[in-house]
This record gives sequence, structure tokens and C-alpha cells, in this order.
Amino acid sequence: MEFDLIHRHFKLPFEGLSRANSRTVVEGIGDDCATFRMSPDHLMYTSTDTLVEGVHFFAEDAPEHIGWKSLACNLSDLAASGAEPLGFMLNLSLPRISESWLSGFSSGLLQLASRFNCPLLGGDTTSAGANSAITISITVFGQAPLAHHGFHRSHACVGDEVWVSGLPGLARLGLLLEYHARNQLAACCDRGDLQTFPVLLSRLSGSLQLEALQALRQPVPQLQWGGRLQGVANACIDLSDGLGGDLSHITQASSLSAVLSVPALKSLWLEKWPDLPTLPDANLLLDSLVRISLQGGDDFQLCWTAPAHSLDAIILHSDQAHCIGHLQHGEGIWLDTPGQSPARWVNQSYDHFRGVES
Ligand code: ADP
Ligand code: MG
Repeated sequence: MEFDLIHRHFKLPFEGLSRANSRTVVEGIGDDCATFRMSPDHLMYTSTDTLVEGVHFFAEDAPEHIGWKSLACNLSDLAASGAEPLGFMLNLSLPRISESWLSGFSSGLLQLASRFNCPLLGGDTTSAGANSAITISITVFGQAPLAHHGFHRSHACVGDEVWVSGLPGLARLGLLLEYHARNQLAACCDRGDLQTFPVLLSRLSGSLQLEALQALRQPVPQLQWGGRLQGVANACIDLSDGLGGDLSHITQASSLSAVLSVPALKSLWLEKWPDLPTLPDANLLLDSLVRISLQGGDDFQLCWTAPAHSLDAIILHSDQAHCIGHLQHGEGIWLDTPGQSPARWVNQSYDHFRGVES
């Protein structure tokens, strides 16, 4: 039963991808161990992430999206380290066997794995016991040349510029839409925002709603930046808990402070929503969107710091990256609005153990 299931949903569908990567995958699914080959003079990078039903995804979410997202968050860690994918292991703990769920999950997983050429090497499948939650744990393996020294959170420097890819906060906008549709907005935002967020959500165009939901359901790991940023960025992190909280990891590890430009954060949204300034409550909405950018999670975009002289190289390569601030001596994250004194940002990004007794 268990072997049939692994064969049908994982070994068979992923076989083509393994064959296409036969130089890397020496032994895939089916034996006690998987064996894979790395390129000479490379270091291995590995990362693992777990998704729990009811915590990281809704039970009723499309299994295709759950499959996609469980690999996306792992590939995003490779992207933030400047590594390229070699393959991944999949551990599934299931309360029940649903053929349609497994087939949807596997096809979403395969879609993303194929896009980034990341074969499935093996895994483990266990029963979680009825009434428990589905748990999906993926471990990804990647590599980068020895000459790439990695991007370390503690390697950011005074004067570095702070850059982001994409639009941080877009996935959180999607999450707010999901909770709003369930009449549960209070479960995922502060009381203060309960006044403004429903107004904001009602103003979104249909296409922006779709984009936000897409960013939440099928985030695209920013692997193309890995190579580009080698030798340019000092520190890099992927945005999984929110820009403010994640950037705090860099500033704390490097004992520095970040000054973020509020107009730069606003212009990220204005690029996506050009007619926003024509709305009567535009300023209020923009302020809400900046808060969403700082608090939002699950974007899987990258945030990096790089010396000012590297700016040209980055702009040359993409219109998908923006400078939003800089680093200086001190501590904390500061929001800089012209004509006002900088305001310290207070960390409210997602903490799994907030409210849990130790
Ligand atoms: P073992 O008893 O050695 O742990 P298993 O019976 O758990 O082996 O698994 C048999 C084979 O199927 C192994 O190669 C394992 O890597 C693979 N496998 C098990 N579960 C999964 C999964 N969810 N995805 C991919 N491969 C899996
Ligand atoms: Mg096993």
C-alpha cells in the first residue's frame, strides 16, 4: 500500500526529471539511500522546512498549491544563499490517504521542481494517525562554487544599500484577502488595522487581487538572483516572516541599523497600483500597504545588502529589484519620511511561539 502510493505519486511522475538530471542523480527513489553527485570544487548547501496543515496552509487549499509552496520555501533558502538546486527529499506525514489530494500535491510539486530542475531524490511516508494534521517536510540540497563565500547575515557593512526583489507584502495582501473572505480578518491583523484593511481590500482591482493570491499560493523562489549577487551582495535573506523582521536578522547579526525610505516603500506599491493616488483615502491606504510590506510573510522574495558602488551592476541586470534604504551604525529598523524624524519600527512579524508558554 505504502509502496504503491510512493510509486504512483512520486517515483513515476518524477522519473523524467531524474533522468534529465542523470549526471546528478546516481540513485533516486527506491533504495535505502539516495546518491547524488556534486560538481567538483563546490560546497553543498542544505536547508529544511516543514509545513503543517492549519498553520501554514488551510485544509481546503488546493493540493497543487500546497505541493508547489512546500518546495518553494526550500528553494527560496537556496536562492538566499546563492546556491543552485541539486535535488530534494520529501517527508510526508498523513492522517489519511486521499488519492486525489496526493495526485494534486504531487503535480504542484513537480511543476515547480521541473521549473528549477530540482529532482526528487527520496523521502519517507508515514501515517500521522486519524485526526492529526498533514505535515510536509522537505529538505533541499544545492551547491555553489567554493569561490562563492556565501551571503552571511553577519557580513552586512555600514553604508550598504538595502535592496529587495519583487514586492514584499504582496503575499500578505493575498493572506488578508483569504481571511477577509472567511470573515476572520481579526485572526491575522492588529486591532488598529481592522478599520483600514477592509477598506483597502475593497479598493483592490480584480487583477491586483489575483496577483496577491497568486503570490501567496505559488510564490516563485528567486533563484536567478543567486548567481547575479555572488561577489556583489554582502548579506542576503529570503522574506518568509516579513521584511521588517527578516531584515532585523541581518541588522542584529551585523550589529547595525537599517534606515528604510518610506517613499521608496510606497513607490513599490505605486508601480503595481498606479491609479491609487486618485483615490480619496490614498494616503491612508499607502500607509497600510507599507505596514503590510514590513509585517508580511511568505513572500519568498529576497532582501540583500550591497555596497553603493555595486548599484550599477544590479540595475543593469534587472528592473525587478529596488533599493529601499541603507545601513548605518546603531541598532533597529528606522522608517525615514522626508520632513519628519525617523521612526523606529517595532517588530510584529510572525512568531510561531508567540503566546505559547515556555
Ligand atoms: P526505508 O524503509 O529504507 O526507510 P521506505 O520504505 O521508507 O524505505 O521508502 C522506500 C523508498 O521510497 C526510499 O527510496 C525512499 O527514499 C522513498 N520514499 C518514501 N517516501 C517518499 C516520498 N514521500 N517521496 C519520495 N520518495 C519517498
Ligand atoms: Mg522510511
